[in-house]
Amino acid sequence: MIGVLALQGAFAEHVKILDKLGYPHKEVRTKRDLVGVDGLIIPGGESTTIGKLLEWEDLADEIKKRAGKDLAIWGICAGLILIAKEVDSDYSLKLLDVNVKRNAYGRQLHSFTSSLSSKKFNNLEGVFIRAPKIISTGKDVEVLTEYKKEPVLVRQGNILGSTFHPELTEDTRVHEYFYELASS
Ligand code: GLN
Repeated sequence: MIGVLALQGAFAEHVKILDKLGYPHKEVRTKRDLVGVDGLIIPGGESTTIGKLLEWEDLADEIKKRAGKDLAIWGICAGLILIAKEVDSDYSLKLLDVNVKRNAYGRQLHSFTSSLSSKKFNNLEGVFIRAPKIISTGKDVEVLTEYKKEPVLVRQGNILGSTFHPELTEDTRVHEYFYELASS
């Protein structure tokens, strides 16, 4: 069962894709909602807000306890900021060994779409919205996809992080890949 963290941000788009793929899924808002979930999508949105709500709902400790073990995680954009070990923000769950810089594309490239180079997925398109950059990756982190030679989709065990938004395209392959990670 895939859970979509539904506290703030772009969760509805993920739910739509999971519906389309026919994968069992539910929205997660409280600690109790996490029961039976094998993979949690932490969507894009506003990382500071989502971080505060995670603490409020008592979800943070439960996620930290299970992440990388019986709970696969996929953080997208703000979700990636929330799971990064090192980040220029006050709050993080510190689950994925990467260093991330928020809003790193500056003003003129606030939001853009570009084709990506990926050893895993052919012709993958990236939608970036006030995206962070992955500045460095730890030794156990595999880079799956790059934009201009910089990592934009990475994996460490069953934890996935992307700076772009696959839920805003028709391409469902990253969701399918996460489903496999969560099911294995
Ligand atoms: N800039 C946002 C933040 O720092 C992330 C943007 C997004 O998730 N699309 O939280």
